[in-house]
Amino acid sequence: MHEGTCHCGAVRIKLPSTPEVATACNCSLCRRIGGPWVYFEFGTVEIQGHPDATAAYVWGDKTLRTIHCKTCGCVTHWEPLDPTPGCKHGINLGNFDPTLIASVRVRRFDGANTWTFIDP
Ligand SMILES: [Zn+2]
Repeated sequence: MHEGTCHCGAVRIKLPSTPEVATACNCSLCRRIGGPWVYFEFGTVEIQGHPDATAAYVWGDKTLRTIHCKTCGCVTHWEPLDPTPGCKHGINLGNFDPTLIASVRVRRFDGANTWTFIDP
């Protein structure tokens, strides 16, 4: 079981399985947040402290909200505004143990322009 927290610990996240691949995105928002992101079916990730300790940011085409801790500001995850069965949401792997972060293969995604992976 992998459990991550925001910096102050108000938001705690438990992953349902061990991620093997993560995505580093260069879009205008992700390049500021960092990441990398791992994706799970919406509802399968246990998140404590949300929404009580969190705030949301919605931008662009308004399909998802990016969630951060109201106390320490760390971005913990994003979720769809209008969830459909089987849809995914993203978890910021930066909130987890460095050994887990180091164990995943990080793929570079060009969210800024071509919307494709740009692995070397
Ligand atoms: Zn926090």
